[in-house]
Amino acid sequence: MTNVILLGPPGAGKGTQAKRLVDERGMTQLSTGDMLRAARSSGSEMGLKVAAVMDAGGLVTDEIVIGLIREKLESGESNGYIFDGFPRTLGQADALGALLDQIGQKLDAVISMQVDDSALVRRVTGRYTCANCGAVYHDETHPTKVDGVCDSCGSTNLVRRADDNEESLRHRLMEYYKKTSPLIGYYYAKGDLSSVDALAKVEDVAGAIKDILDR
Ligand code: ADP
Ligand code: AMP
Repeated sequence: MTNVILLGPPGAGKGTQAKRLVDERGMTQLSTGDMLRAARSSGSEMGLKVAAVMDAGGLVTDEIVIGLIREKLESGESNGYIFDGFPRTLGQADALGALLDQIGQKLDAVISMQVDDSALVRRVTGRYTCANCGAVYHDETHPTKVDGVCDSCGSTNLVRRADDNEESLRHRLMEYYKKTSPLIGYYYAKGDLSSVDALAKVEDVAGAIKDILDR
């Protein structure tokens, strides 16, 4: 069993690669962003509380996201977890280590997905996803084969995220550099860190991740 963190700024390609690992290896994707968006659309009290922070591109409190991850780890059997968009702060990283300890598991790899910031605006503003199955597309680099129809599940419910605009991205990037990028040093010091060139083609990034996981 392999547990891996995909670490990188918004638009680095974490979700895209996580979905491939789910399909190819039967691993479980734990995306706190997806969980928070699901909470919002269900109209739960927590979902309503986090909506404004998410739209502005800020970080939701550690307490909330750690709670979401704890629930998943305590309730599930898995063939390996892919942490996508979590942890995002040092507090979350410490909490994840403790939670994995509690269930007798460990982290096998932390993969830093390296991209130029200049690529991120294009990646994020061109992104759309299938609301039914979560498949990730891009206007230029990866459009659906048939306009308006999801390749994976055939749904026509393709959506853009409210926070995928340039202004929110600027704030998300600032949050990333202030609060999340220190995790690169944290995991390097622990001896867990590997890096991939996330500017490469989706297939090539997937190949580089496979090499790390098979090592
Ligand atoms: P993240 O989960 O890190 O925010 P996504 O996986 O949602 O990033 O990818 C952001 C956008 O960039 C999506 O529209 C996706 O289709 C596109 N994308 C992802 N990986 C690549 C890549 N290697 N090359 C070009 N576009 C990519
Ligand atoms: P993402 O889908 O990973 O791009 O996350 C979308 C938004 O959800 C972020 O901009 C944050 O507002 C919130 N979010 C997701 N994951 C976390 C996390 N681990 N810690 C704090 N906020 C998060």
